[in-house]
Amino acid sequence: MHVHCLASLFLHRPCCQQPGRRNRSVELCIQVMITTETIQLVQLGARANLVCQLTGLEKTIVKRLYRQLHGHPSPPGQMPYTDTWYLENPSRMLQAALVWRLYRRLKESERSAARVLIAVFESYTYMVIEPLLNFTRVAFVPHLITMKLWSERRCESCGTAYVSPVDESLETCPGCRRYYRLHRGG
Ligand SMILES: [Zn+2]
Repeated sequence: MHVHCLASLFLHRPCCQQPGRRNRSVELCIQVMITTETIQLVQLGARANLVCQLTGLEKTIVKRLYRQLHGHPSPPGQMPYTDTWYLENPSRMLQAALVWRLYRRLKESERSAARVLIAVFESYTYMVIEPLLNFTRVAFVPHLITMKLWSERRCESCGTAYVSPVDESLETCPGCRRYYRLHRGG
């Protein structure tokens, strides 16, 4: 389905009832932009609830779009509530650190929240050979920083910025920890 065809789904009023050509053009541009972002989010695997949070669209519209693009309903469930999944595996934390550095850089732009996360996810999956974090996990990384459950630190060994729980006492990044563990005693 083409973008401008889908855009018509999101318009609240028929074109003939809109106040003027200029307003109609602006509204159409905004709707097309939101539609494009919505399609990309759904294609990248974002669940309907997260898409609604990022775009402000109604849940029924997003769920319908999700079903059209994937051929099945969006899985239920919200964002994860804890960081347990990340902490179970140092490789996940290593990739979460990359996600955070990408997010920190890209959020400085004038992009919308949806556009920033799309750019972060696309950059992350392009840079990593075997991405471990799906779209939901990627979106939750900056959330953990915002909630002050995680903080950014600088590794005392290699100087790289990484993320970890605020109450963690270690001062080295997951990459250095893995390196020293592998070479311990060697
Ligand atoms: Zn390090």
